[in-house]
Amino acid sequence: MTHKLRAEYGPKGAAGGVKSWHVVRDENLAVALCGRTMSEDSETRPEQEWGTGLRCCQQCGSLYMHEVPHMQGSHPYS
Ligand SMILES: [Zn+2]
Repeated sequence: MTHKLRAEYGPKGAAGGVKSWHVVRDENLAVALCGRTMSEDSETRPEQEWGTGLRCCQQCGSLYMHEVPHMQGSHPYS
């Protein structure tokens, strides 16, 4: 595993639910692929959950697909 998903929360914080999910690299969990700085206490999920209906950052999505081309076709991306 080389990436993880991290939650971005809305103005209400974690209590208000996840606004969107970003992709981070394992070696730097603090910064998403799109350049966004993730807060230290935001929820982290395994990258396998990408494309399973989570509301994801589009920019992270395209960068992630570029970095992990083997995911294409074998992983439903909706
Ligand atoms: Zn992002």
